[in-house]
Amino acid sequence: TTTGSYDSKKPREKLLGGGLLATEFDDESCLSRYHQASLRKPSPHKPSAYLVSKLRSYEKLHKRCGPGSDAYKSATVKLGLKPGNGSESVGECRYIVWVPYSGLANRIISLVSVFLYALLTERVILVDQRSGISDLFCEPFPATSWLLPRNFPLLGVWGLVTRSYNAYLSRADERLGIQVRVFDRHAGYLQHVMDQIVACTQRENLLPELSTQVTNTSRSKRLLKVVLVTSLHPEYSVKLKRMFWEQPTSTGESIEVYQPSEERVQQTDKKLHDQKALAEVYLLSLTDNIVTSARSTFGYFAYSLGGLRPWILYKPVNRTAPDPPCVKAVSMEPCFHRPPLYGCQAKTIEITPFVMTCEDSNPGLKLV
Ligand code: GDP
Repeated sequence: TTTGSYDSKKPREKLLGGGLLATEFDDESCLSRYHQASLRKPSPHKPSAYLVSKLRSYEKLHKRCGPGSDAYKSATVKLGLKPGNGSESVGECRYIVWVPYSGLANRIISLVSVFLYALLTERVILVDQRSGISDLFCEPFPATSWLLPRNFPLLGVWGLVTRSYNAYLSRADERLGIQVRVFDRHAGYLQHVMDQIVACTQRENLLPELSTQVTNTSRSKRLLKVVLVTSLHPEYSVKLKRMFWEQPTSTGESIEVYQPSEERVQQTDKKLHDQKALAEVYLLSLTDNIVTSARSTFGYFAYSLGGLRPWILYKPVNRTAPDPPCVKAVSMEPCFHRPPLYGCQAKTIEITPFVMTCEDSNPGLKLV
């Protein structure tokens, strides 16, 4: 029976089932860790020897790979965020980062799930501490930390994603991504590209046609479709937004158009510019359907990451919108623009059933 007072002479009890908790901590390091066993009835659910041994080996792994270790430092260098000399070995450390979401109970359930996943896949769990997790829980693993260091370089590349997602995308019934990349001497707004976007999205039923009459759709049936436009130029999303504001849609759907950034010119290697570009790729990858511009790796990255088969806008010829304006790609694979088709290498290229000429580039090749 339990007495309600903590008896440190009961080591088996205090380690929960004889091994769920690590032995290395002293009692003062965390009041709740060993105390709680004395407040509970002994659990009928005993941890298996396998689970206990997995926990012990996990603790060793976390110590070897966790923050402050050489392996952790090498892993952040490997992320490409600090110049590395390329010769350091990360030593088989793999990580999973837990980011809090929703209320306390949801956070704890997701944290437990992530830990189980880490345990089963031999990854190291690191928790985002900005929401104050260290005010709630003790460090669970001896001689290391589970807190993702505050200077972890990707924490800032992610806020851009979550703030946009929560504010604009999360409440949509359906999300459409439109990536507009203009490869033209006169980059900027081009009317034929705008015509092409409208033609493609309406023809493929990705966006509704406009109506002259107000459709009487009940409130509950009025679906919200959010259109995420990414482009260096703001005019495409401005025009789309205006279109759906000035006239009702034939289906009664509400269309909301959102463009996160309008950088105007490519500024590769400028930190915030690159962070915005990466955030937009992530956001595009979170949509349900995606329309991308021909021959843009930016678009390839987004739809491949999202596992999406895009509608690709054909490259305009003679500054007119092509007809048909776009094609649904055969697969979510990116196009390899310059396969070695020339010279002596050409003889060794074989087109197999798994490879085809890209929809948006010839002689580009892609996996089917
Ligand atoms: P590609 O040139 O389209 O094949 O793709 P890259 O990503 O290699 O280069 C394009 C670069 O231009 C991006 O990395 C960004 O710096 C910038 N850029 C192009 N389109 C966009 C866009 O829609 N949003 C943002 N933020 N940047 C863009």
